[in-house]
Amino acid sequence: MKLWQDKLRKIDPYVPGEQSDAPGLVKLNANENPYPPSPRVQAVLRETNAASLRFYPDANGTDLRAALARHFGLRPEQVFLGNGSDDVLALCFQAFFASGQPILFPDITYSFYPVWCDLLRVPFECVPVRDDFRIDPRAFDRPNGGVVFPNPNAPTSLGEGLDFIEDILRHNQDCIVIVDEAYIDFGGVSCLPLLEKYENLVVVQTMSKSRSLAGLRIGYALCSPTLAATLEAVKNSYNSYTLDTLALACGTASVEDDGYFRETCARIVATRDKTAEQLRAMGFTVLPSQTNFLFATHRTRSAKEVFEALKAKNIFVRYFSKPRIDNYLRITIGTPKEMEKLLSAMKAIL
Ligand code: PMP
Repeated sequence: MKLWQDKLRKIDPYVPGEQSDAPGLVKLNANENPYPPSPRVQAVLRETNAASLRFYPDANGTDLRAALARHFGLRPEQVFLGNGSDDVLALCFQAFFASGQPILFPDITYSFYPVWCDLLRVPFECVPVRDDFRIDPRAFDRPNGGVVFPNPNAPTSLGEGLDFIEDILRHNQDCIVIVDEAYIDFGGVSCLPLLEKYENLVVVQTMSKSRSLAGLRIGYALCSPTLAATLEAVKNSYNSYTLDTLALACGTASVEDDGYFRETCARIVATRDKTAEQLRAMGFTVLPSQTNFLFATHRTRSAKEVFEALKAKNIFVRYFSKPRIDNYLRITIGTPKEMEKLLSAMKAIL
């Protein structure tokens, strides 16, 4: 062992869903969108001249922020952009969770939260979700350095309404409350209307799921101008150009094509509800999803066993070997054809 090895950062990183482009693979493990992005995105890529890439991108993301502000009926000063919502969330943790008091998030939730806490040395406490996996709003009624949770929650797929979010905000007015709306476009209720009333609310969304742009890495926070300016200052203290030229242009094109966005989301919701029904008929308990994935457990077969059997058939879903959820599968909604393949493989396995 060399002495310099003692000086290296030791950390357990977040492990994303396995990526693979093996032929014939049915990839239902990373909550990606099965449809291509808006044709307008394709047009931007076709028309982009590589020569323009010698310039730095617009560090303020002026056009994309304006497009998002118009889309949501907000002011551009209320929009903060990042390299995927992971980047936005990591910056939020740095910008807003600096008090030294433990922040709170559910015990069953996006597993990146504790990783950022470790990296950024933010103390945290997990609040247990109820036996039905629903978040208990009362669990956040205690002194804390901030609150963060996804709505709908992941990997449970369960969404809550506006009253529920407002209840948490009403009881947490002296800290920043982050609502991670990564999956909001698949039937959830966004808490954006609460921004007017709660200056300490930060809503984080992504173009990775509902806008089919996971590969471009575009996320954003919607919040009060004061909080957006704080995020901007923290971002500009480590990397001014988190979004590249192509991401800015394609993101803007996507936001401006509302028709395509609504249509593809509706298709995924329809496929999801049909798949849930079919899985239930096979003996699965499937939580009522408001996302582009299903969280399911089988009456008799272990999730790990089914996960591995599916993998052997070239169908990837996600399995978490974690307390409370280690008998569940998280299944991303693909095209109707992909779901048919999943269901017939499932039938054979069961
Ligand atoms: N929040 C939640 C709850 C997620 O599941 C994900 C996807 N892994 C993200 C945020 C991050 O998504 P992205 O960085 O692609 O915007």
